[in-house]
Amino acid sequence: MPRKALMIDYEYCTGCHACEVACKQEHDYPVGKGGIHMNEIMTTLPNGRLRIDYIPFPTAYCDLCAVRTKKKGETTACAKHCQAQVISYDTVAELAKIMENKAHAVMFTPK
Ligand code: SF4
Ligand code: SF4
Repeated sequence: MPRKALMIDYEYCTGCHACEVACKQEHDYPVGKGGIHMNEIMTTLPNGRLRIDYIPFPTAYCDLCAVRTKKKGETTACAKHCQAQVISYDTVAELAKIMENKAHAVMFTPK
């Protein structure tokens, strides 16, 4: 079976935290525990301007929504609830093809 993954196209992430909320609700995680964490990274560019990137990234608790994806054939909760459509769930091979044309994207594969 082809390996599945999440691709996070963070160029368009607004930092809204909806993916974190969706993940917590899907798994009923308590406060302080979650499958994805939205990171805010500030960088001072060579021209002196400040750049802010929002990069949500899965944690060790991410199971790629095994119940939804394997048993129900649905996409992951974070992908479904991201209004900016930043998160994609698919095979590693398919996501790698999409990433060929992306400027700011990362892929996550759980253990
Ligand atoms: S990935 Fe989507 S849901 Fe998560 S913080 Fe970014 S825009 Fe919001
Ligand atoms: S794939 Fe599921 S478990 Fe992983 S971060 Fe997204 S919502 Fe959470």
